[in-house]
Amino acid sequence: MAKLARALAAEGKDVINLSFGEPDFQTPQHIKDAAKKAIDDGFTFYTPVPGYPELRKAISEKFKNDNHLNYPFDQIVVSTGAKHAIMNTVLALINPGDEVIIPTPYWVSYSEMVKLAEGVPVFVHTTVENDFKPSVEQIKAAITSRTRLFMFSSPCNPTGSVFSKEELKAMADLFAQYPDIYIIADEIYEHITFEGKHESIAQFPEIFERVITVNGVSKGFAMTGWRIGYIGAAKWIAEACEKIQGQFTSGTCSIAQRAALAAITTDLKPTFDMREQFRKRRDLVLELMKEIPGFKLNKPTGAFYVFPDVSYYFGKSFEGKIISDAQELCMYLLNHAHVSLVTGEAFGNGNYIRFSYAASEENLRKALSRIKEALSELK
Ligand code: PLP
Repeated sequence: MAKLARALAAEGKDVINLSFGEPDFQTPQHIKDAAKKAIDDGFTFYTPVPGYPELRKAISEKFKNDNHLNYPFDQIVVSTGAKHAIMNTVLALINPGDEVIIPTPYWVSYSEMVKLAEGVPVFVHTTVENDFKPSVEQIKAAITSRTRLFMFSSPCNPTGSVFSKEELKAMADLFAQYPDIYIIADEIYEHITFEGKHESIAQFPEIFERVITVNGVSKGFAMTGWRIGYIGAAKWIAEACEKIQGQFTSGTCSIAQRAALAAITTDLKPTFDMREQFRKRRDLVLELMKEIPGFKLNKPTGAFYVFPDVSYYFGKSFEGKIISDAQELCMYLLNHAHVSLVTGEAFGNGNYIRFSYAASEENLRKALSRIKEALSELK
């Protein structure tokens, strides 16, 4: 799809890209300034493997203040993005044949990371009808004697669903009965939530020791390219991640760490302004999608994605060519509406398409109008 999108753009077509998984905003100026200062101040050497102590202390404070989680500084590991932090954790915890329960739709890398560690992904399927949240009974039914890990994101990529405190508590009560199961709570979209307060599953003391809380600066501070993510975890898990990281990448970039320190310890206003923009765009996209027949939607309360069920269009055709799945529908929309999207198959459910609203209001309006028209031509 990316290749075709580039080819269409090269032909002069106005291709609108709604496939991005990153904010379309610049990193706030004070964070950029901190990075420039870091260079001038000589932060140019190898860094300690788990990150600069000052940054780890700031993250420890952040966990305490924002999430009421007590991860002392020696239980924090800073890595090259949340992706790297999750991969370290999966490698630390998973032995060949261990099962990892992943609710679908899931962020694309979860299942591949488990496979890299020679674990076995076990999927628990959810749909738009239940706001893409698995029930406790569903999760329980997936647990076997080989289950080692449960991993999920809240707010969720690709669905924008956010787990409430009550829903997390119900999961915590379940996992309290299974002392061999660990939980990766991916909270990278923490700052992009539109209703109420962000809640962490690690807040429940009965499972705290077994929760690895993942976060980072990519999404909330528009810092995807800086590559800073981190975990708070039990000491032995943090030490295992440090050991793995020490042989793979060493400590992450010195300059990016100093920038992340500025992001975490200073003004959150730019983050909240960005969140406001995302909220407006979400409302706009939901409004415009209401006018598209056949799209089944939840109301996303976090992240910057909408994930409609588009199966209404399967079996319809254009000039005799039948659209049989989300991948083919995405291709059709790219060719006929010149909008680039991501098929739900990438996230474990082929009835859906992911729309990112990390794009300007003008482009969102144009894209959805073109999509509506292109879909109306399917018979
Ligand atoms: N977790 C989720 C749910 C994501 O959507 C992403 C990025 O798209 C990541 C983790 C990775 O974040 P980072 O850029 O910090 O590696």
